[in-house]
Amino acid sequence: MEDAHVAIPDFDVEKGLSLFGVFDGHGGVAREAVAKLVSERLPRTLKNLEEYKAGNFKERVGDRQDEFLWSADGRVALRKAKRKANGALLAAEAPRLRALLRNKAGRCAFSLHCKTDPIPLSAPSWATLLTGQRAAVHRITSNDLDSLLSTDSQGRLLVQPSDCLCTPVRSASCFASAFSQAKRQKLANPASPFPPTLFHFLSQNGCSAKLLNVGWPGVPQLCADARRPEFAKMHIVNSQAEELDKAVEEMLKLFVHFVQQLCLQVLALYTHSVDLAGHVHGFSLDVPEYLESIEHFDACLGRLLDALADRHEDWLLAITTDHGGGAAKDMSKDQWSLFVEDCKCIHKGLSQAGSQGVHGLQDSDTHNTRFVILSGLNARPGEICPPPEAIDFLPTLLRHLGLASDSLPGRSRGLRRD
Ligand SMILES: [Zn+2]
Repeated sequence: MEDAHVAIPDFDVEKGLSLFGVFDGHGGVAREAVAKLVSERLPRTLKNLEEYKAGNFKERVGDRQDEFLWSADGRVALRKAKRKANGALLAAEAPRLRALLRNKAGRCAFSLHCKTDPIPLSAPSWATLLTGQRAAVHRITSNDLDSLLSTDSQGRLLVQPSDCLCTPVRSASCFASAFSQAKRQKLANPASPFPPTLFHFLSQNGCSAKLLNVGWPGVPQLCADARRPEFAKMHIVNSQAEELDKAVEEMLKLFVHFVQQLCLQVLALYTHSVDLAGHVHGFSLDVPEYLESIEHFDACLGRLLDALADRHEDWLLAITTDHGGGAAKDMSKDQWSLFVEDCKCIHKGLSQAGSQGVHGLQDSDTHNTRFVILSGLNARPGEICPPPEAIDFLPTLLRHLGLASDSLPGRSRGLRRD
């Protein structure tokens, strides 16, 4: 890390003053960023101070810098400075994630360029990740799970095709084609069984599993099938939005406890905290609250990694996300009108029209890009090229567990034993 400096020989010609300074930037990226930012702003701040003009500025200049750094503008500027200091893709202060990606332990396979299949919304995307089947097969086409899902007399989970009214004209730009397809299927077949999920494969093979869920209840809803006994083992936390951060902490404690006390083969944790911060404040690298939610997740991940490291067992830690997202402020007029006016299916179940951060457009890279990180002795270190598809996630998990995935269209990616 580097110090910053300022050297302006003719700072104030009238008063015959020069300005020289060194700013201590040692102690991490955050300090380096603060040092650089303060060195850039100090000359202007000093000259604009009434106290400077009166010749008495020593204390005020420090106060003024502090006020700026704690303001909303200051936090955004600091993020940008940090990004410059990092020279990295991720602006968040997420040392554990970064250490994984840099492969310091030599046991991380990853791709930051995975795509959704094809709808960048939570329920369709999780349906693909959990079943290993494409959207055209599982037929979850919106977040409106209450009207899409039902159960038959045997307790099987059924999918009702969506009755979305998107016009085919927009099919190239959004996921209307998937809805039109679902509509056609609805005429031919009113409801079809939802395909088996990860938990179904596990219970079929006698594996024990537990799902810990924080916030949005879509994942347990998609896995809810009365025939599947593992559902009874799920621990679900229905958090209020403002309690999500606290709930993540509690769930991580439970998670560590389960790893240490129980003989479980699969532990799954879903958290909505980062997506929620993205919706409330914007999914963008210059939005401090969004980056802070990633940093909080990173701290939770660190505790999990430490607990796993103590076990000396062949665990595979698989981290992924269902979709990306953008900030409404960064969207073009055309993109916004497509999002709000033309593609109302995006808002089925839960409207995003009033959100600062949004996702759902199939052709937007910021919306449809996901990541996968696999860490463990069985991960083949380095970037997975080409990026794995969403349908590959489940076969990869099953492969690690030594279970067959022949019935699935995807394949295991990123493991030594692929
Ligand atoms: Zn979302």
